[in-house]
Amino acid sequence: MAQIGIRFHQSLNDFLAPALSDTEIIHNFERKASVKDMIESFNVPHTEVGRISVNGVAADFNYIVQDRDRIEVFPAGENFSATSAGQLRPPLLQPPQFVVDSNLGRLARYLRLLGFDCLYRNDYNDDMIARIASEQQRIVLTRDRSLLHRKIITYGYFVRADKPKIQTREVLKRFALNSLIKPLTRCTHCNGKLAETGKSCIEHRLEPLTKQYYDKFLICLECGRIYWQGSHSMRIEQLLGELAGTQS
Ligand SMILES: [Zn+2]
Repeated sequence: MAQIGIRFHQSLNDFLAPALSDTEIIHNFERKASVKDMIESFNVPHTEVGRISVNGVAADFNYIVQDRDRIEVFPAGENFSATSAGQLRPPLLQPPQFVVDSNLGRLARYLRLLGFDCLYRNDYNDDMIARIASEQQRIVLTRDRSLLHRKIITYGYFVRADKPKIQTREVLKRFALNSLIKPLTRCTHCNGKLAETGKSCIEHRLEPLTKQYYDKFLICLECGRIYWQGSHSMRIEQLLGELAGTQS
């Protein structure tokens, strides 16, 4: 029998029972285990962890836990992609790309509206999401913590809030995305890229009032949906205002 002390910091406590929160947990174990397995035995997904310290020294996920180790586990935060000693995963692709779980459709749409590459389908299952994330180095956004325990997923975030706008704000903050927002560059329906198009090319598809009042149009290169600056720009400005003003 071996014994360790392990403490989870800050937002990692969201995954623990209140009695274990913000305290050194004394834990007995018999089988040889990596620190990653040890962390996940407390239901904390590895994707949420940003830094591990064992007896004051940075450790990676493969470290094999020893008797009397004192382990500190810190969350991944805004400096998620920064290189540093004890880095747990390779740097993220920039700008980050996402694959969004099937029950977070509005979050996916909001992120697309802000210009982020978000794969989403309402019929994605866990296997598909994990495979896409692994093959394309995408960040999994989910409210299913068991999905984030999968080994092949390197990057992920457990979305805390229920409301889509607050979820969007969480993701912007967690991955430091505010400076990367590029409104009206991506189709909210299919994630395709938008390109400018001449009014004469799409005029036959416009409602009379749209044709009368707007001159600048964008078209989705994937699904052909048309966007125009007026109404869609207002929607984005309203969303950005709400994201800035929403208190968590
Ligand atoms: Zn489209």
